[in-house]
Amino acid sequence: MFDKILIANRGEIALRVIRAAREMDIGTVAVHSTADADAMHVRMADESVCIGPPSAAQSYLNFPAIISACEVTGAQAIHPGYGFLSENANFVQIVEDHELTFIGPRAEHIRIMGDKITAKETMRELGVPCVPGSEGGVPDLEAAQRIGEEIGYPVIVKATAGGGGRGMKLAKTAAEMERAFQTARSEAKAAFGNDEVYLEKYLGAPRHIEVQVFGDGKGNAVHLGERDCSLQRRHQKVFEEAPGPSITQEQRAEIGKTCADAVARIGYAGAGTIEFLFEDGEFYFIEMNTRLQVEHPVTEVIFGVDLVREQIRVAAGLPLSFAQEDLRINGHAIEVRINAEKLPSFSPSPGKITQYHAPGGLGVRMDSALYDGYRIPPYYDSLIGKLIVHGRDRPEALARLNRALGELIVDGVDTTVPLFHALLQQEAVQTGNYTIHWLEEWLAQNLA
Ligand code: ADP
Repeated sequence: MFDKILIANRGEIALRVIRAAREMDIGTVAVHSTADADAMHVRMADESVCIGPPSAAQSYLNFPAIISACEVTGAQAIHPGYGFLSENANFVQIVEDHELTFIGPRAEHIRIMGDKITAKETMRELGVPCVPGSEGGVPDLEAAQRIGEEIGYPVIVKATAGGGGRGMKLAKTAAEMERAFQTARSEAKAAFGNDEVYLEKYLGAPRHIEVQVFGDGKGNAVHLGERDCSLQRRHQKVFEEAPGPSITQEQRAEIGKTCADAVARIGYAGAGTIEFLFEDGEFYFIEMNTRLQVEHPVTEVIFGVDLVREQIRVAAGLPLSFAQEDLRINGHAIEVRINAEKLPSFSPSPGKITQYHAPGGLGVRMDSALYDGYRIPPYYDSLIGKLIVHGRDRPEALARLNRALGELIVDGVDTTVPLFHALLQQEAVQTGNYTIHWLEEWLAQNLA
């Protein structure tokens, strides 16, 4: 096992990793920008190194500064958290070239899943169900029109290099294909420097269901069920839960096994999430994230496992500490993402926290790097906390969420907490009956 690891991240996820490491008796090194000198992750780690000015490009994404921080402190491995360098195959390569360990999958697997066409082809070959669509990239408008007829409208044109919902255009009918194809291409070119696009059948009312997998890098893998993350705003998740209210035990076992077998076959190491759109009882693969997800706590809570501990163990060459048959679901968990944002525009609201009080009690977990007097810098993501609740069933988890939100105090900045108070009053949220479009429609009617 490692003696010391470096956490190449900030905020709540850096704390999350430090906590796991400390329970494993592993030393921790925090890195930080000049804007984060007073941040909680710096205070909580055993050691810290300043790696650059506020801009992420010069600090949290600065390869040489992070590698030197390892060399200076003697850290043997790097945990990337999520975002920043977590899915950067070039970084993984450089970490390995310096005889350090990346706590995550191999560069090769990050690369495969980072290209949407290769990811889809690989998954299809591994027996994972995919959205019907073009085989690979579509060279020109004529091909797009021909394939559009074959798969049937509506059709979505997507960028191969896509991410963050950009370079995606809907063609509801054949007449709309020319415009959708050309716009998606030019957007993809501008955003990613790569204008390759592909086609998929557009699903009108799906849910977002994602399967948590874990591989040991030696051909063994398990799944930890699914999370339903259908409540999204601009393709960003805001409310996540496990298990999925629309998924049966049989569906879970089947899609879970398909996913675990797929990652086992490629020798995948560590945590991964296979994302699906789910409609009329069918799963359609959209992408795989080769890292820990923001919403991993809901899975941890219902299975009673520490996924970060497992990531560190696998990176150190140890076997998984549980087998598939050890994994049993206990109750229901919900996470809400609390952002420093002003409603209804959701514009960032950085500034000084004048008062902070975290909720507590049975079944409540608050993952946050806030403290009284902390000044939220304007340079980074607006996520300031994740409130995770656990109940014996979904109604109990909802009641607990309502109670815990009432205890939470974050003064000095605007937050998305009022959104969750309002959402908990909605019948769709109470019954769990919504698609990926529900929240956008509700926001348009109620918050505009
Ligand atoms: P990105 O990497 O840009 O986030 P994804 O492929 O994960 O792109 O898709 C993002 C979102 O776009 C999905 O969560 C879903 O809301 C929508 N989407 C993607 N593909 C389809 C499809 N075939 N049909 C309907 N909606 C889709």
